[in-house]
Amino acid sequence: MIEERRCLNCGSLLKGRSDKRFCHDQCRSRHNYDQKSQDNLNLIREINNSLKKNWDILKTLNINGETKISKRTMAIQGFNFDYFTSAYSIEGKEKYFYCYEMGYQVINDSEILLVEKG
Ligand SMILES: [Zn+2]
Repeated sequence: MIEERRCLNCGSLLKGRSDKRFCHDQCRSRHNYDQKSQDNLNLIREINNSLKKNWDILKTLNINGETKISKRTMAIQGFNFDYFTSAYSIEGKEKYFYCYEMGYQVINDSEILLVEKG
């Protein structure tokens, strides 16, 4: 029985070597390009999800517009400190990180002040 093999890109029937996966170099390039684009899209989607999750957590925990909270509590909620949409500091001391309009100020190693862009 001969197994029918098709090009991974265009689906046309493949002839010749059994390890062949594409009918043309163009099909190989196209497939690799699409794969890469898809990987990039997945990465963007993951980061967007992390930002959205962070935003949800900030929104939920910041009850008064300015709420002091422990960094640990944030981490337990699943907050990812690697992701934010903007960051700035005042005189190199007060550091602020924002996920959209919701943000926080780092008070020290364990404490955080949740803030909101006014
Ligand atoms: Zn092809």
